[in-house]
Formats: sequence, structure tokens, C-alpha cells
Amino acid sequence: MAKLNLNRVEMPRQDPRKRGKNFNEVALGYSPEQAQEEAGRCIQCKKRNCVAGCPVEVDIPDFIQAIRDGDMPEAVRILKSKNALPGICGRVCPQESQCEETCTLAKKEAPIAIGRLERFVADWERGNVPQAASSPPARPRPSGKKVAVVGSGPAGLTAAADLARLGHGVTIFEALHVAGGVLMYGIPEFRLPKEIVQAEVEFVASLGARIELDSVVGKLATLDEILANGYDAVFLGTGAGLPMFLNINGENLNGIYSANEFLTRVNLMKAYKFPEYDTPVKVGKKVAVVGGGNVAMDSARCALRLGADDVYIIYRRSEVELPARREEVENAQEEGIQFKLLTNPKQFLGNEQNWVVGAECYEMELGEPDDSGRRRPVVKKGSEFVIDVDEVIVALGTRPNPLIASTTVGLETTKYGTVVADEETGKTVKDKVWAGGDIVTGSTTVISAMGAGKRAAASIDEYLRG
Ligand SMILES: Cc1cc2nc3c(=O)[nH]c(=O)nc-3n(C[C@H](O)[C@H](O)[C@H](O)COP(=O)(O)OP(=O)(O)OC[C@H]3O[C@@H](n4cnc5c(N)ncnc54)[C@H](O)[C@@H]3O)c2cc1C
Ligand code: SF4
Repeated sequence: MAKLNLNRVEMPRQDPRKRGKNFNEVALGYSPEQAQEEAGRCIQCKKRNCVAGCPVEVDIPDFIQAIRDGDMPEAVRILKSKNALPGICGRVCPQESQCEETCTLAKKEAPIAIGRLERFVADWERGNVPQAASSPPARPRPSGKKVAVVGSGPAGLTAAADLARLGHGVTIFEALHVAGGVLMYGIPEFRLPKEIVQAEVEFVASLGARIELDSVVGKLATLDEILANGYDAVFLGTGAGLPMFLNINGENLNGIYSANEFLTRVNLMKAYKFPEYDTPVKVGKKVAVVGGGNVAMDSARCALRLGADDVYIIYRRSEVELPARREEVENAQEEGIQFKLLTNPKQFLGNEQNWVVGAECYEMELGEPDDSGRRRPVVKKGSEFVIDVDEVIVALGTRPNPLIASTTVGLETTKYGTVVADEETGKTVKDKVWAGGDIVTGSTTVISAMGAGKRAAASIDEYLRG
């Protein structure tokens, strides 16, 4: 039997010294030879552990086999039959805690780089099949049923794609002027080029989903009015876009942003191309980002690329507890982001013009585990110190915007503002209404939102077919 190659093929990346000054993509993707070599490591297990770890149940061994066979159209077909957003997932999904974690090879050493292969297939299609979006699989016979999908993030797009493939008439209502949700306004260009998001949004549209932009449900029409307008079912995928704050002194000073506002300005409104695009953004020289998740890493790395000399991540626990993807923490470290761990702001200090000039912080230590299972950070008495800053970005997490819940009769919500829905089906307590993604779970991941969209689409289909 051939000896197992345990070394996964590394993916080339932009040099850290150069990439900290540009918004071009950091990871450069596999060449065809590298993809072949990595695909060649897959042992085509009978028990498909990798598939069990994928929330959208992609037939992983089959698309990897198609790469090995050099049959790229077949690899695309297999991948896209389950996942309408492979170029996105191949870039930002935490495969290390999903399909790659359950891959059989992970028990021995390096699992197959499933995410990188997924990205390779999606990129091959975009580079070689220019009309990919305009030549989707044949449309099924219309069911005559109408479904409204509210929100065009990964949850909404996935639900819309699956419902359209099943023959239902789907309309996506999106509040912003562009579809994609966090994929467009949150995750920066250097991790997820917007051209790729838009190509995959177009693919969903090509399956038959109509997209109505600038349509804020709860303002232009309420959910109940949509239902009264002849829709047979509604899927709510409006995410968790409301930022949380520290609620400490000085948080209202000039130069302090929520990560949502900062990233929306930079990514969606292209402030990094000012004045070519007319969105201004404060360009700090000493920038503190409070938080330790992907949002904090993205904010810090954007601030660096905008021209900051020193960018600090201020996080109240230790490196082990950082919730961001390991890969993104390493990227940030390589680029020179400075980690102030076991540190928490006490207050922000301002000058006479009310611009932030400092973050007074406590040193922290870890106590007993809290409800989340992580060790609770505890203030070290008398440990206050000041970090000089001229810009602060607060990246503490988000909650759902209350607009829809407050304008809809009969939706049940939790004390965190999330909508209560069945975990398996996404069904809410309100007749004809399903929900999934961050609006139900609070901020999680792209793939868990997609999984929720998929399960809800199956449940809506079952309901519509009586
Ligand atoms: C900066 C950042 C980086 C991240 N990095 C990663 C990562 O690397 N990997 C990962 O897996 N996850 C990451 N995440 C998390 C991930 O992006 C989210 O979990 C995911 O996008 C949730 O999908 P969703 O469809 O539920 O909601 P969203 O993506 O938030 O989409 C919701 C959509 O609904 C629209 N909407 C809201 N209200 C209304 C309304 N009333 N009417 C009509 N439309 C409405 C919004 O405009 C938005 O387009 C990141 C999040 C952020 C903010
Ligand atoms: S578990 Fe890993 S090695 Fe086995 S088929 Fe899946 S990707 Fe290949």
C-alpha cells in the first residue's frame, strides 16, 4: 500500500511586509498542481467523516475525487449541488473546527485541506466558465408557491437557493443597496474579495431568486404585510447587526467607532479608496481594537492597511481563549498587530476637543470558568495603566436589530433579542415564519448560518407541499 503523505500542501500567501499596506487578498490559492497533490492525499474513506462535519453536507470525497480525475466541471457540479457559495466558504469558513476536524487523517496528522480545495474548485469555475452564473442547472417545474426571504446574508442566500431549486417562487428582501450581508459589509476585501461574493450572489439569482435591494422589512412593509400580500412562507435571515458596547466612561468620544461602523465604512463604502470613494474614515496612528474575535482581527488589520503605525488588540482573556480563527490570529501577528492580552479598558480619555487620546486599562487574570466554560477574567486591583491611542474600535459582538421583532405580531424572542426557532427546522412560533442564522443564534459563522438556511428551506418545502 502506498505510504500516506501526512504533510498538507501549504497555500501561498502575500508577503506580510507587503500585504499590511494593501487590501489585496492575502491567501493566493492553490495552483492546479498543488490542488492535485493535496487532493491526492485523500484516502476516500468508506465512512465519510468529513461529510458528517459539514453543516451543508457537501459530498467532499466525491468532489476531491473529481479534482484527482482532472474533471473540474464535475467537481464544480458536485460542490454547487449542495453549496451555492463555495468561493466564500473556501475562504472564510472555519474548516478546522468542521469538516477538517472530523477528517479521518486529522487523527494521524494534518487533515485534508478541504477548504483550500473548495476554494480552488470555485476559483477554477470563475476563471474558466465565464457564464457560470448565467448557465445554471435547468429550472424545475414551478410549484406555484411564493416564499419571501428577508436578508441576503449566507443564511438567506442558502435558503433562497435551495427553495428556488425546489421550484418555489423566491423573493429576497435586502435592506442594503447590495446583497451579501456581512460578507459584503463586514469581512474585508483582503480576506474575501467582493467580486467573489457578487459572483455567488448572481449564481443564487440565476437559480430563480429575485433580489429586492433597499427593502427594509419592518419599515417599508412589515412581515405581516408581506404575508398578507400573498407569500405562502417567510424565512427570516436578518443576522445580528446591532453592535454591543463596553458602557464605560469616554466611550462617546470622537475617534471611537463600533467595529460595525468602521468595517462598513471601509468595506462596503470603500473608505479605503478615499477620495476616489467619498466615504471618510478616521485614519489613526495608534489604534486600539477591543475584542478578540474575527471582527476584532479584521478591524485591526484594516486599521493597519489604512496607515496606522501601532495597532493593538486589547483582549481580556489569554491567547488560548481568543475566539478568532487561529489562521487569522497568525496572519495578524505576522503583519505586526500587537496583542495586549489579559487587558481590559476601564475608561477612555479625551482631549479638550473631545477626541480620544488614551485607553486606561486594567491588567486581568483568569479565575474560575464562567457560563461559557472559559475561565472568567478578573481585574487585578491597582493594575491600571494607560495606552496612548488616537482611535478606538470596539469589537465586542453583536445582537439582532429589534426592528423586525418589534413590528411583527407573535414572534418570540429571547432576552438577547434573538428569535426563538426550532433548531432542526428553523420554524418559529409564528405561523408561516421560519428563521435561521445569526438572528437565531447570535453571531456565529457563515457555515452555521448556511446550515440553518438549508434546514429551514427543507422544512418550508415540506410545509408548502402539504
Ligand atoms: C467582520 C466580521 C468577520 C467575520 N468573519 C467570519 C469568518 O471569518 N468566518 C465565519 O465563518 N464567520 C465570520 N463572521 C460571522 C459571519 O459573517 C456571520 O455569522 C454570518 O454572516 C451570518 O449570516 P446571516 O445570513 O445570519 O446574517 P448576515 O450576514 O448578517 O446577513 C443579514 C442580512 O440581512 C439584512 N437585513 C437586516 N435587517 C433587515 C431588514 N429589516 N430587512 C431586510 N434586510 C435586513 C442585512 O442588511 C444583511 O444583509 C464574521 C462576521 C463579521 C462581522
Ligand atoms: S475524511 Fe478526509 S481523507 Fe477521508 S474522505 Fe473525507 S477528506 Fe478524504
